[in-house]
Amino acid sequence: MARVYNFSAGPAVLPEEVLLEAAAEMMDYRGTGMSVMEMSHRSKAYQQIIDEAEADLRQLMNIPDNYKVLFLQGGASQQFAMIPMNLMKNKVADYIITGQWAKKAWQEAQKYGAANAIASSADETFSYIPDCSDLPVSPDADYVYICENNTIYGTKFHTLPNTKGKMLVSDVSSCFLSEPVDVTKYGLIYGGVQKNIGPAGVVIAIIREDLITEDVLPGTPTMLTYKIHADNGSMYNTPPAYGIYICGKVFKWLLKNGGLDAMQEKNQKKAAILYDFLDQSKLFRGTVRKEDRSLMNVPFVTGSKELDEAFVKAAAEAGFVNLKGHRSVGGMRASIYNAMPIEGVEKLVDFMREFEAANS
Ligand SMILES: *Cc1c(COP(=O)(O)O)cnc(C)c1O
Repeated sequence: MARVYNFSAGPAVLPEEVLLEAAAEMMDYRGTGMSVMEMSHRSKAYQQIIDEAEADLRQLMNIPDNYKVLFLQGGASQQFAMIPMNLMKNKVADYIITGQWAKKAWQEAQKYGAANAIASSADETFSYIPDCSDLPVSPDADYVYICENNTIYGTKFHTLPNTKGKMLVSDVSSCFLSEPVDVTKYGLIYGGVQKNIGPAGVVIAIIREDLITEDVLPGTPTMLTYKIHADNGSMYNTPPAYGIYICGKVFKWLLKNGGLDAMQEKNQKKAAILYDFLDQSKLFRGTVRKEDRSLMNVPFVTGSKELDEAFVKAAAEAGFVNLKGHRSVGGMRASIYNAMPIEGVEKLVDFMREFEAANS
């Protein structure tokens, strides 16, 4: 078995323990004589899987009772439409544009109402988080929307915006379960799971109960109505059953490894190893304003396109894969999600040091 160090932004590395457990259960899930992929989602065995997944997630994130946990499909991008369809009661919402994912959500919302961009960091290719302490929040805005961790650009909101009393909606796809979170500060937290939790396709939405209503925009498809999924325990139709099963295993792995406090400590340690190296390197440099740096996605460049390419290629040959930056920004990006071990980052930095010595 030859595992690589996988720095992919998503789908991304998962804990080996989880993969091994899933492999062991593939032919016969706990005496059922079948895999979870083959079992009815209405079976007792599956109900237990999804119930435990929800309970474990509630424990990990300390989710209050007045929030529902929904396991949905269509990835994070489906939420770009589902959010305005369900939450834009006044047909007004404010968006903070900190990268491509926020921009896509904003553009989609424009189909359903007045979606205002109230702040943006587009002027410096999204390399920072704008000051959100006193924004021109619309008086009749239904919500303020952010993308909390910007996967492509490597920035993170370390302070939530001052929404002036408006409900906050946050896309946490690439920082989900990377650190403790105060759920009560949000109306809706959601994320695609393929960055930090499980297989692509599943999206988890944690939504305050009073926001789940039948009062949605006319024409909203049944499948895109939060209430339908909430009323049916995320099983209005066949859920992405196998994906949820893997997410559940990752939740158990997180609980076993100390929960989100321990994860934050480990993630800070990993990110510091990489950022400290970048800050003293004569060849490589980080591309993001220091105070806004993400713990999960670390973009960097050499300043030369040729050297960037040579680095990505040499790194892959040495077993450090998927370090190429997003096609829209170039350079490199190391995504160091929960399941990336500290040794992976240490060895990457050793490799970068050697590459620097050989190319200076
Ligand atoms: C990857 C990503 C998305 C898109 O996820 P899909 O599941 O492909 O729709 C949206 N937001 C953020 C922050 C992401 O990292």
